[in-house]
Parts: sequence; C-alpha cells; structure tokens
Amino acid sequence: MHEVAAVNPWEALAYLVSGVLFILALRGLSSPASSRRGNRYGMAGMAIAVVTTLVTHELANPIEVLGAIAIGAVIGVVMARKIAMTAMPQLVAAFHSLVGLAAVAVAAAAYLNPIAFGIADASGQIFTVSRVEMGLGIAIGAITFSGSVIAFLKLNGNMSGAPIMLPLRHLINLGTLAGILGLVAYFTMDQSPWVFWTVTGLSFVIGFLLIIPIGGADMPVVVSMLNSYSGWAAAAMGFTLGNTAMIITGALVGASGAILSYIMCKAMNRSFISVIAGGFGADDAGAAGGGSKEQRPWKPGSADDAAFLMSQAENVIIVPGYGMAVAQAQHALREMADLLKKEGVNVKYAIHPVAGRMPGHMNVLLAEANVPYDEVFELEDINNEFAQCDVAFVIGANDVTNPSAKTDKSSPIYGMPVLDVEKAKTVLFVKRSMGGVGYAGVDNDVFYMDQTMMLLGDAKKMADDIVKALNGGGH
Ligand code: NDP
Repeated sequence: MHEVAAVNPWEALAYLVSGVLFILALRGLSSPASSRRGNRYGMAGMAIAVVTTLVTHELANPIEVLGAIAIGAVIGVVMARKIAMTAMPQLVAAFHSLVGLAAVAVAAAAYLNPIAFGIADASGQIFTVSRVEMGLGIAIGAITFSGSVIAFLKLNGNMSGAPIMLPLRHLINLGTLAGILGLVAYFTMDQSPWVFWTVTGLSFVIGFLLIIPIGGADMPVVVSMLNSYSGWAAAAMGFTLGNTAMIITGALVGASGAILSYIMCKAMNRSFISVIAGGFGADDAGAAGGGSKEQRPWKPGSADDAAFLMSQAENVIIVPGYGMAVAQAQHALREMADLLKKEGVNVKYAIHPVAGRMPGHMNVLLAEANVPYDEVFELEDINNEFAQCDVAFVIGANDVTNPSAKTDKSSPIYGMPVLDVEKAKTVLFVKRSMGGVGYAGVDNDVFYMDQTMMLLGDAKKMADDIVKALNGGGH
C-alpha cells in the first residue's frame, strides 16, 4: 500500500458533504416532480467539491486552472441553453467521451510523473497498487472515450445506426480484452512505457470494436452503459489521485449507470451480456419488416375526424413518442386532452421506457406541459387497458408500438415489449408521411390495419388542428 498524505479533516468533511449532496441529487432525479431540486443538490455538491480541491491544493498555475474552468463553464452554459431536447442522447455520449479522455489524461500524467503524484518511491518505481489502479483507469477511460465517440456519431446521424458486423468479431473482441487484462497484470511487474501505451492503444481499439456492431435499437442501453464506465474510470483515477470526492462520485455514477442499464435491458427484453458483446439480434436488421409498404392500403384521416372520434369515446389512451418531442407538441397535446376531459372522456398517457431518445424523455416533456402525473402510466401498468379502450392516439411514436417486436424474429426490435395499441377499437396514428420510419428503421403493420386511421402531418400542427376542431371551430 502506498501511503496517502495525511488528510485535512475539513477537506474530508467537505468531500463527505458533497458526496451526500450527490446522493440526494440522484434521489431527487428519480421523479420529474423533484428533479429540479435534485439538480440543485448536484450543483451545490459539485461546487463544494471543486472549491475544496482548489483551496486544499497548491496550484502551480492558478491562472491556467481558473481559465480552464471559466472556458469549460462558458461552453457548458451555451450548450445547455442551445441543445434541443431531442439531441440530448448525443450530448450525453459526447460528455462521456470527455470523462473517458480526462481519465486517460490523468493516468498518463501520473505515469509520466509518478513522484509528483506521490505514487512512486524515490527511484521512480510506481507502487504496485497504483499500477493496478492506473492500468484499469486507463483501460476503462480509453474504452469509454472511443466507445462514446462511436455512440455520438451513430446517435447524431454522422454514422449509420445500422450494426457493422466484422467477421470473427467475438473472437477478435475476446482476444483483445484478454490481451488488455494480461498486460494490466504484467504492468504490475514491469512499468515499461511499451506496456502502458499498448494497454492504452488496445483499449481505444476495443471501445471502437465493442460499439460498432450495436444497432440503433440497442443504443439507449449503450449510452447508459458508457455512463457507468465513465464513472468507474473516474473512481479509478480518484484512487490514483487520492481524492475521495472523485472516488465517491465515480462510484455513484458507475453504480447508477449500471442499474439504469439493467433496468433498460429488462424494459427492452435484452440480455445485458448480449448487448455488451455487441450485435446480437441485429442480424438482417436492414431488411426486416420492409416489404412492399408502398402497395399496402391504408386509411387517411383529418383533424376533424380525429376530434369527432375522440370526443365520442369513453376511453382514450395517448401514446407519445420521438415525433412529439421533435415537434414540441406536448402543450397542444395537453390542451387537446383537457378539452376531451371536459367532454367526459377518460384520458390516459402510456409511456414506453424507451420512447423518444433518452430515458424519461416523454415524462420530462409531459411534466413541462403540466400533464398531471396521475394520468401518466408506465407500459406494464397500462398495456392491458388497450383492449378495452376506444381510441389509441399515437403521436410521433413508432417502434414502441410495432407489433413485429412480438412476432417477427428477424426484426431488430424482436423481443422488446411494446405498447399493444393494435388492440384498441380505433387507432389514430400521427406522423408526417407514410415513407418515414422509426429509429429502428422498420415498417409498422399497425398503419395498415382496418381500425387504423393515419393522420399525416406535423405532430404539433395536427394537435393544434384537433384542438380547434374540438372547440367547434374547424380549421
Ligand atoms: P420512433 O423513432 O420509432 O418513431 C418516431 C416517429 O415519429 C416516426 O414514425 C416519425 O415518422 C414520426 N415523426 C418524426 N417527426 C415528426 C413530427 N415532427 N411530427 C409528427 N411525427 C413525427 O420513436 P419511438 O418513440 O416510438 O421509439 C423510440 C426509438 O428510439 C426506439 O427504437 C428506441 O430504442 C430508440 N432510442 C431510444 C432512446 C431512449 O433512451 N429512449 C435512446 C436512443 C434511441 P415520420 O418521419 O413519417 O414523421
């Protein structure tokens, strides 16, 4: 064990307080009602941690450090203000890549100057335990970096979301992983630069190889998995730097990301191992469900038709999805629901766990439009109500309603639980065109069913027009 410099008790207390605030932040973020408070706890915790680190360390160059913080803060504020809600997943992936890169930079700095970091004896021999922390930190950091860059490019549309399958990929991946672990073990005996830099290089490569075969439909799990990795990378670096705040925060991010990945895997009926191993269930993805969609008959409808059908209904279930988020239709949708409720219609919202482009996406938007929480239901709590409901109003959702997930083994979303909208007496389906597909790129049989009426148009405009029609004005 290397000796840790005696810790100033005030410093330890401040880090403890920030750790507690981070835990309260996570607790607050578990529900949209308390999420603002949660964010404030998180901000306070981070401010305490940063200030404590700055005042308890002798800064070799304060101008450089404060300048870097100021530049980072400006970039953060501008991005947070500008970013569209729908671009959140790629922003998160970009942030993870920075955490990974930071872990690599810290590990490299510690490796190149171990005495300054207090992790080596006078002759420059790095302590064994530090070599393990550093080896793991750089490996996880580099995997997080290159994996997140690929996830960013896929989510941002700079790279096709389709899985890229290399021949023998499982063999290549396992071989590379075994090589990394073997070299990290060897690093404890030999701290030569070739060992350190080979671990770094192989880890960059494996991050890339692990993410390219993962198809679009599994991306939500990947994003939360990379979130978890970025936490472990930070925790490993916390040990190298002897910084308890980093260890606590890293462990919290690592654990919460892992739990979220597990919950999402369960929601999408994916095995965690198969998602990480990459490319499972993605074979033939492009072809699945395509078929001759242009030729199949479908029924068009108007806002007036929709207003009439819904005002006559007893029960209406609204299914929002990505398109509602893009169109920012949540306020018009709430207005529509209010008018229907005034006419005595029982209105509920059904939320699929991966609707939209990030976990909780729909809940956040509906909360923003002041939709009452007791009208919003998770998939498992509402799915058996579709069979009794008069109208399922699907607005900008697609994959999360696709019944091929239940029946078509070649579908990239096969096995994912979906909302059973096809069981409703009438399905109203809002989307812009018959040609447009959902995130997984597959056609949806619900469009062509007898009881389905397609309401083609922008989600916000359609919801506004239905509101006008319900108000008796037509349009
Ligand atoms: P989909 O992406 O499957 O479908 C979106 C639908 O909205 C399409 O039918 C599209 O058709 C329509 N649309 C797009 N823009 C508009 C608009 N302005 N007005 C009206 N309609 C519009 O969305 P879902 O929410 O059903 O499914 C989410 C998918 O995203 C899943 O496959 C999930 O795995 C994936 N995903 C989820 C993440 C998460 O964490 N929640 C993260 C990353 C991916 P058209 O173009 O014709 O209008």
